[in-house]
Parts: sequence; C-alpha cells; structure tokens
Amino acid sequence: MNTAHDEPVYDCVIIGGGPAGLAAGLYVARARLNALLVDRSAPGGQLLLTETVENYPGFVEPINAYDLIQQMVDQCKRFDLQFAQKSITGIAVRPDGLHQLETTDGRLVSRTTVLCTGAVPRRLDVPGEKEFSGKGVSYCATCDGAFFRGKRVAVIGGGDTAVEEGVFLTRFCEKVTIIHRRTELRAQKVLQERAFANPKIEFILGAVPVEIIGDTSVKGLRIKDTKTGAVSTLDVPGVFIFVGYLPQTDIVAGLVKLDESKHILTDDYMQTSVPGLFCAGDVRRSPLKQIATAVGEGAIAGWAVEKYITEHAGK
Ligand code: NAP
Repeated sequence: MNTAHDEPVYDCVIIGGGPAGLAAGLYVARARLNALLVDRSAPGGQLLLTETVENYPGFVEPINAYDLIQQMVDQCKRFDLQFAQKSITGIAVRPDGLHQLETTDGRLVSRTTVLCTGAVPRRLDVPGEKEFSGKGVSYCATCDGAFFRGKRVAVIGGGDTAVEEGVFLTRFCEKVTIIHRRTELRAQKVLQERAFANPKIEFILGAVPVEIIGDTSVKGLRIKDTKTGAVSTLDVPGVFIFVGYLPQTDIVAGLVKLDESKHILTDDYMQTSVPGLFCAGDVRRSPLKQIATAVGEGAIAGWAVEKYITEHAGK
C-alpha cells in the first residue's frame, strides 16, 4: 500500500532489536506482513551487556548472549523480516490513522508500530558518578570488567544484575565488594547462593554510596552505614553500578499512557492507549523483566499486529 504522497507504507515497524523486538519481528514476518525492524545499533539490546544466559528455557548449558541474539536474528531473516539501522526521533498518528515515524535518516510510515525500546541503566546520582563515568565508573561488567584484572572493585545494588555481574567480575578481579542498601538481597536465590559461595565476593549490607572520589580516575568509594550514619572509604579503582533500569519512552512522551515510573501501559494484547501502537519488553509495565517474558510479550504483540491489520483492512 502507498499513501496519497506515494510514500511506501509498512504494515508494521518494530522499534528496538532486543529479544522483545526480535520475537515480534518473527511473528509479523511469519504472518507475511511487510515489516521492518529498526534499531539505532546492531540488534541485541541490553542482552549484549551480559555474557551468558542460563535461564532462557531450552538450553541446558549456559548460552552465549551474542549467539542467542544471532540465532534470533537469523530466524527472523529466514522469514524475510527487513532490518534497518537508524534512530527514531518521534512518532505521530496522522489523521488517516497511519503512524508517521521521524528518523535521523528520513521518515517512515506504517499501519502499526511495536515499541520495544527497552531500558537504560539507572544512575545513582552521587557526586563523582558523572565525572568518573568511563574513568572507573561503569554500568557494564562485560564491557569493562577486564580493565580491572587483579584489582578490587565495588558493585552497587542487590538485584539480579548486581549479584550476577558481581560473580562475573570475579573472573578478572581479585575481590568484588557488593554494597547493598538493605540487609536482604533482592536477587534470585540461586544467584545469591552462587555469590555467597564465591570466596572473591564480600558483601557490605545496610550501606549506601555517598561519593565516588578520585583524580584523573576513580580512587575510592565513600559509603554510609544506614544504621549508624558512619561514613567509610573503600579504596577501589572501579565502581560498577547496577541499581535498576529506566524505560526508554522519550519518543512516545505525551502520546501513550505511562505509569508513575514511566513504563508503558498496555492491554492484554500489548496494545498501548494509541490504536495500532503496541509495545513489549522492558519498556512495558510488567511484574517480571526477563528474556523469556520479553520474548513472550513480543510474540503476543506480533500476533496482535496481524489481528489488528486484518480487522482494519480496507478501513
Ligand atoms: P532491580 O531488580 O530493580 O534491582 C535494583 C537494585 O538496586 C535493588 O537491590 C535496589 O535496592 C538497588 N537500588 C536502587 N536504587 C538504589 C540507590 N539509589 N542506591 C542504592 N541502591 C539502589 O534491577 P536489576 O537487578 O537491574 O534487574 C532489573 C530486571 O532485570 C529485574 O526484573 C531482574 O529480575 C531482571 N534480571 C534478570 C536476570 C536473570 O534472570 N538472570 C539478570 C539480570 C536482571 P532495593 O532492593 O532496596 O530496592
């Protein structure tokens, strides 16, 4: 289908090439829709920030994250999903109901859109964090862990990411100190057990970071005991921050309904408050953020796109 201005019109544009976007892509491609998956970088999303995956059903042994993504991409290509590398800067709904997507490289028009833009690491917002970002402060153990070979590093957070990445860092680091603000960890028990059994990991519980200090790079982390208020300094050249993620919803700000934490609200069919605009994965409000749930939500969204297009055919 083309518009009055003779622009090509996609049946579906998927924004984001993480597991949610790739699953949606697989379903729309198998429905033989004219579909395009757009990502500002290579497909993979946050999955590429980790090295191995061991809780994605179907794989007995841990699977390399890059290999898993590559399998998903190849599977989509087998059913002719189109891929493009560009940034989407805004989405608008035209009077004729079509979605108009502004990109850094031209405009796209589509009958439906699936937003799978994921989330970005949350910042701690303590003095020194911004200044030393990339100079000892990191949000990615896979990317930066090897820079701290034989050294001691601090990890902030008590969730799955902090504990899992803390264990990963022991491959390089002599000692990993996980600092968590509460006295109980939030991470899955199996991850906790692994961390407790690792002699290179120590925990400081009931403490919050107050400042990252250094000169040209990080030299230490100042932490405060939440009970006594006492402040102490850890001499570390590296601080890894894993305190959660913020959904990437900028391009739909003011367009779709969000919850108080800026996650996108959808119905059971993954449809947002805008007709034909669907969403899946970490950007969506949901109780569990896993590859398995992202893939499940992506599959529902892809299936729902086909249903939407069938119902709106000729309208
Ligand atoms: P998360 O579950 O939101 O945990 C964030 C952690 O950071 C919490 O322990 C929180 O403390 C702490 N925190 C938040 N703000 C803080 C602050 N200002 N100062 C100090 N500590 C702060 O985030 P996540 O661990 O990145 O996980 C995100 C999602 O991905 C989760 O759904 C998780 O299950 C999933 N995930 C799964 C796997 C896996 O299955 N293998 C791996 C990684 C991530 P409180 O506990 O006190 O709130």
